[in-house]
Amino acid sequence: MSQLFAVIGNPIEHSRSPMIHQSFARQLGIDLTYEKLWAAIDGFEEAVNAFRERGGRGMNVTVPFKLEAFDLAERRSPRAERALAANTLVFPDSADKPVYADNTDGVGLVNDLAFHGVTLDDKRILILGAGGATRGVLAPLLEQAPQEVLIANRNPERAYGLVEEFRDAAGECRLSGSPLEGIEESLFDLIVNATPASLTAQLPPLPDGLVGAHTVAYDMAYGAEPTVFMQWAEARGGRPLDGLGMLVEQAAESFYLWHAQRPDTTPVREALRQNIRKKADQEE
Ligand code: NDP
Repeated sequence: MSQLFAVIGNPIEHSRSPMIHQSFARQLGIDLTYEKLWAAIDGFEEAVNAFRERGGRGMNVTVPFKLEAFDLAERRSPRAERALAANTLVFPDSADKPVYADNTDGVGLVNDLAFHGVTLDDKRILILGAGGATRGVLAPLLEQAPQEVLIANRNPERAYGLVEEFRDAAGECRLSGSPLEGIEESLFDLIVNATPASLTAQLPPLPDGLVGAHTVAYDMAYGAEPTVFMQWAEARGGRPLDGLGMLVEQAAESFYLWHAQRPDTTPVREALRQNIRKKADQEE
């Protein structure tokens, strides 16, 4: 019998999770249905309960419900506990067993960087943004033992707050915060844009001297064309990467939680890239 899964968010129409999970399932011969589920801003729990009543076995959770998903669960992975946010829920087959929450965003980013041959050991990392995505990836990045992580945010208080919260996970790594407009000009090995600025073609105010020939500029956003942030970095000699691979890798980790099987992400990355380009061509 086909198992039922979904991605829940508001908005949700843009989500590519159904395509990704259906591709993984075809690859591994698993029979599943994967839906897009829209929920009202104040209707997350109600939507989850209705989905469970229909037999739903798992859910990916996107903006703005990751904190609520964490709160709703009775059991959580250490990485979800660390982030206080969840992007994956596992529903038990009976109501008396606990709902399990995990956060696969961070491992998604680290695995995508590894896919591209980017290692983080002893590296200098700059993260732009201090929202849910940064919260989700911080601990997995710190686990890779970088030399330094600087979090720069428009509202610097949020960056300083994350620094305090994650200080105990930093180990030897120098972890600090900065206002976005006051980043000290020095070379970084990796700059992660964890703001949605690229989605509206906005470029955060960044000094030129952050990027050198060895700098990887990773935008968590993605599209048919390189984002403005990627173009900015490439023009300065950096290596641009977008967040499509992170999306596929975090999905693969959720898939593993639900099905205990690991899909090959390479063909799914390629299919998704083609699909995004085709859609953009059709819209022109
Ligand atoms: P949040 O809304 O939680 O946080 C957004 C952050 O970006 C805040 O720190 C905010 O600053 C900052 N910000 C927003 N707009 C601008 C702007 N125009 N210029 C500069 N800073 C800005 O969002 P998330 O952290 O959940 O998501 C961030 C991005 O990452 C989104 O684009 C999301 O789609 C993407 N993402 C991609 C994933 C993937 O798999 N590829 C996974 C998860 C997220 P302030 O605090 O000052 O408001």
